[in-house]
Order: sequence, then structure tokens, then C-alpha cells
Amino acid sequence: MSPRSECIAIDSCPKCQGRHRYKLAVDRSIVIKWLTASDMYERARQVRFVRLFTCPVKKEDYQATFYLSDTSSDRIKDVRVVGIVSSDEQED
Ligand SMILES: [Zn+2]
Repeated sequence: MSPRSECIAIDSCPKCQGRHRYKLAVDRSIVIKWLTASDMYERARQVRFVRLFTCPVKKEDYQATFYLSDTSSDRIKDVRVVGIVSSDEQED
């Protein structure tokens, strides 16, 4: 399976205090299994990742923590930062 594209937002960049959106390539392994009663009520788990991001304003790297959700049948194997999302809409 090829990685899926997902976007996350860093609300407060440690370099410029701005808000940036990044595109991620999320590699998930889909586990095929029989559903049990408890699976029906399973809540998505929040998985913590720490990655390096590049501030587009200062052109410097910084480390940030973010969370993505997975479940026991949809495990996140790896996350790569692809790049910045250039937004047409300005949010300030
Ligand atoms: Zn920044």
C-alpha cells in the first residue's frame, strides 16, 4: 500500500509564531481481522509523533509534536513530512 497524504497544522511555529500547514505521507498497515463486539466500540487511538518541520518564513528547521489517530485495524507504520502546504486563504 502506498502512503496516504494527510495534512496537519502547526498553530504556533517556534521560529516565527505563525501558523503553517504541512503535508504528510502516512504509511498505514491495514489489518484484516474478524470484528468482535469490542472492536465495534473501539475508539481511535491518538499516536504521538515528533518530526522536523521547516519554517517557510525563517527557513529554519524546528521539531514539533503532533498526534494522528489510528485503530487496531489501521496502524500507522511511518510518517514523513512531505512539505509545506501553500494556502491560498490567509488566516490572519
Ligand atoms: Zn514559522
